[in-house]
Order: sequence, then C-alpha cells, then structure tokens
Amino acid sequence: MKLAAGAATDRGRQRDNNEDAFLVDDRRALFAVADGMGGHRGGEVASHTAIEALRAAVASGDGMEDAITRANGAVLERARGNDDLSGMGTTMTAVIAVDGTSLLVGHVGDSRAYLLRDGELRRVTDDHSLVEELVREGRLTPEQAESHPQRAIVTRALGVDPDVDVDLYTLDVAPSDRVLLCSDGLTTMLRDRDVQRVARGISDPQHAAEALVAAANEAGGDDNITVIVIDVLEVDERTVPPAPEATAVATATDGASTRATVLGDQARPAVSIPAPDVAETAPREPRRSRVRAFRRAVLVLLPLVLILAVAVGTLGWYARRSYYVGAVADEVVIYKGVPGGVLGWDPTVDEHTGVALDRLPEADRQRVTTNASRGSLSTARSFVARLRNEATTTTTTTFAPTTARVTTTTKPRSAGGF
Ligand code: MG
Repeated sequence: MKLAAGAATDRGRQRDNNEDAFLVDDRRALFAVADGMGGHRGGEVASHTAIEALRAAVASGDGMEDAITRANGAVLERARGNDDLSGMGTTMTAVIAVDGTSLLVGHVGDSRAYLLRDGELRRVTDDHSLVEELVREGRLTPEQAESHPQRAIVTRALGVDPDVDVDLYTLDVAPSDRVLLCSDGLTTMLRDRDVQRVARGISDPQHAAEALVAAANEAGGDDNITVIVIDVLEVDERTVPPAPEATAVATATDGASTRATVLGDQARPAVSIPAPDVAETAPREPRRSRVRAFRRAVLVLLPLVLILAVAVGTLGWYARRSYYVGAVADEVVIYKGVPGGVLGWDPTVDEHTGVALDRLPEADRQRVTTNASRGSLSTARSFVARLRNEATTTTTTTFAPTTARVTTTTKPRSAGGF
C-alpha cells in the first residue's frame, strides 16, 4: 500500500498550551492523535506518554489493541505517585495499515477518524462522550449535542483504569480514499460538512491538514486542534517486507503555538508502506463498552453535583423568601430569613412594628421570643396586627408601622433558642 500523510497541530486561540499530541510513522504506516486532559501539565504529559508508548509497542510487534492497552498502562504508570499528574488521561485514535488493502483503526475517547471517499465524508469512530451516548440512547438530538455544555466530558480514556476497551474498525481502502484523524478541537469548531468541504478541496495532505486547523481557528479555536490527513495512493495484495532504511518518525513535541509540519517537506513524495503482521491485527468488530470506572464516575458524580446545586439554591430561596416575627431590644420586628440563618444567609430585620414587647400578654411574648410565627410576609404582618390589638396598654407614641427596609443583621433576641 502506498500512503501519503500530512499533519498539523495548533494550541488554538483560547488555550495557553497544547495538550494534543500526534504520531506520523511512515515506516510502520502508523498514525495517531491523542488529546490529553488533566491539570497542571497533566494533559500534555498524558498525550505524549501515550503516543510514545503506542509507537514503542507497535515497533516491538504489538497489534493495535495491545499497543493501545500498553499506552493506557504507560499513562497510568507515569501518573503513579505524582500528585501533579494524578487524574490525567488522554484520548487515542490511531490507524495502521494491516495488509495491502486495509487500514485498522483503534479508538478510545472523543477524537475521531473519518473516511473521505468520492467526496463524501463519513465518520468511522463513535465518540466515547457523555453527549454522544445520550444521542445514541435517543435522549438528545445531534443538534442539541453540538452545543451541549457537557460535550467535553469523555466516558472512556486512557490513564483512567487498568482495563480499557478499545474500539477497532477495519477500513478496506481504495486509491484516492482519504482518512482523517483529528482531535475534538476540530470537530467542536466545524460541522462535518465544513470538514468535508475543506478536506476534499485541497489535494495535498499537508496543506489540507493545515487548512483544517486554520478553519477551526477561524471558527474560534476554542480548543487545541490536531489533524492528520492520510491519502491512499495505491493498494495491493502483496506483503512487502519491512524496509530497513531511514524511518521518518515525528511526534508533536512541545505543543505551544507552533504548527508542526511533521513530514518535513510539504511536497514530500509518497512513501511505500510495508505491511505489519496481519495476524497481530486481525480485523474485528468494534466492541461495545462495558461500564468503566471513568464512565461510572461521570454518571455518579454528575447527578450528585446537580442535586447539591438544586439543594443549595432551594435553601437560599427558602432562606430569603421566609419571614418570622421576633424582637430587637423591646420592639417586635419582622425578620426576613430563617431563625439562626441558613448556610451563611443570616436573617435581617425587614420591618419595625412599633409594638413594645413588654406590653404583650405573656403567651404572645413567648411566641415572639421563640420566633413561633414563621411563613410569608403577610403571615407575619397578620400576626403583628393581632399582637397590636392585644397589647395591654395603648401607647400614646405614634408607632406607625413602617415599611422601611433595614439591612441590619441583628441576631434574633431569642438567640438562645436558635
Ligand atoms: Mg480537545
């Protein structure tokens, strides 16, 4: 099989660093994109660790699934005992030529592989992301998924669990087919039809990769963007022994703002690709995921966070929409809030009533000092009106009820009770 590849990566317009990494290994006909995630430098370390482990595993004879499994182990190992790196992970979408006519795609996460054939772009891989799973379950439309706030949450990644399910896809290819590998920094910025338009409009694979990255940046460049374009120039059934001569291996090193042109000369001629051991990479159907730790964590934590947010909001609403009757010094007042306060929302004096506490019958005084009357503002006012009627002595002072709002945070007189 004869392939020609071009690749480009860019940190985009919003991010300070580039956590994507990629691999173009002409000799082994091995190509991969990894999109790292994690705090500090974790994302960068994860994606580069995975890419290097994949390359080394394939070089030592591993098939695609085993090589990605080893990359997973390498990321876990790298994070072990390092607080700065714990929790890091990465996606991995890789392709390798398995015989004279087929490519094998290995895939974990939400980077993607596409096949452009006869001008039509077709997505090969399923995203392992929360929103795409909701789409597959019919709970979101594809249009809703495109702008969903949780679309960055992946449900499968390398570096999360010692076991990882790798989706495998076999592509029987023909001359003039073009395969795209990309991180989600491309596909969250461009619709598939825009990717298709750019990808089929530029024949040189390096120029096409760069144009796709540029288009994603023009659309906002919210994330790191990485694209590999692989053109199938010739296919044949022959198995060619590995060529011992020079190998052109390039990986995205320091992401930064540089756009890596990994194949050097953009006008580089196509290389002849030897086929690896077919037995090692027997075509398989993609396996559906078992529920993995990462997905479990997302599915467990997300509802908890939502429940907590709703609870805090409800408490806050309750705390600020409730009123009760209490006293400040010897005056009956209406408080806004909840006796004792809730989560930092302390009650405030909302209305002074002019009713003197010591003029009330003992039972009413008790009710006031224990804040027994609680509810809406009108409930509190009704209670105060009744107190005013029951005051034993009418004062000559004109204590007109005031509706002036004051914002003191005086604690209720009956603080001991709350
Ligand atoms: Mg990304």
